[in-house]
Amino acid sequence: MQIIRTISEIRAVLDEQRAAGNSVGFVPTMGYLHDGHVSLIRASVEANARTVVSVFVNPLQFAEGEDLEDYPRDLDADVAHCHGAGADFVFAPSVEEMYPSPVDTVVSCPGVAAPLEGEHRPSHFAGVATVVAKLFSIVGPCRAYFGAKDWQQVAVVTRMAADLSMPVEVVPCPIVRESDGLAMSSRNVYLTAEERAQAPLLRRALDAGRSAVADGERDPAAVEAAMGDVLAGASLGTVDYAAAVPAHSLVADGSLAGEVRLLVAVKFSKARLIDNDGCVAD
Ligand code: AMP
Repeated sequence: MQIIRTISEIRAVLDEQRAAGNSVGFVPTMGYLHDGHVSLIRASVEANARTVVSVFVNPLQFAEGEDLEDYPRDLDADVAHCHGAGADFVFAPSVEEMYPSPVDTVVSCPGVAAPLEGEHRPSHFAGVATVVAKLFSIVGPCRAYFGAKDWQQVAVVTRMAADLSMPVEVVPCPIVRESDGLAMSSRNVYLTAEERAQAPLLRRALDAGRSAVADGERDPAAVEAAMGDVLAGASLGTVDYAAAVPAHSLVADGSLAGEVRLLVAVKFSKARLIDNDGCVAD
């Protein structure tokens, strides 16, 4: 496995791979890798001749006052995870390598990025879409792997790739959880012991939402209230949202019908946790 720091070098090695007829799978990450990331790398290794993992904490997707400086970093451990999962290349550029001058060109998807996370982190998805577009242009993958943990991010990236005719298949992968149901996240290390004890309530809130839909509830507000009742137990956190929405538009549109996505976000003292799950209202 090779660790590569510059855009010119990763382009050169991947040009060679493509010229040799090897398909390239790509897993973009911000590092501090856990089993959720590893599952994406394994999915890529299974379907592609070569797999590239990027490790880059992207300043563009952090707003003023968010955790850019404190975001956990451990490149040696990340390299070991990538190697263990069968990756071929780790692309770990510096901020200066990625953004040698201030960025003037921004990719935004103001429709799908607007609700939910977009209301709480208004500049976030433009930062994500811009860096993912840039990474796609550097890596030139056939397939790129994203976790359903960040459901709205998958929607934004899928839409961007379709709208801009990017020659890449965006592959969503299932959420990997701790044994008590908490979705794995690099930011879970920020939780205090007391907050960590309350964090599985996000998953339980989603279960309550799913049960309500399974029992025939079609009023989004009632499903959201069922989730909110469970989240009220997370007394150390503030609920940003508990939403029951159409899985692809992410915007409520009357009674629930067809594919539904349940999404929750809770802000604890330092960690802001998000989680989601799907169900069908038929
Ligand atoms: P991040 O490093 O947090 O930017 O995440 C990089 C990729 O890993 C994104 O596509 C995430 O959705 C995905 N990911 C993060 N946590 C999980 C998880 N618990 N299960 C599956 N994928 C995840």
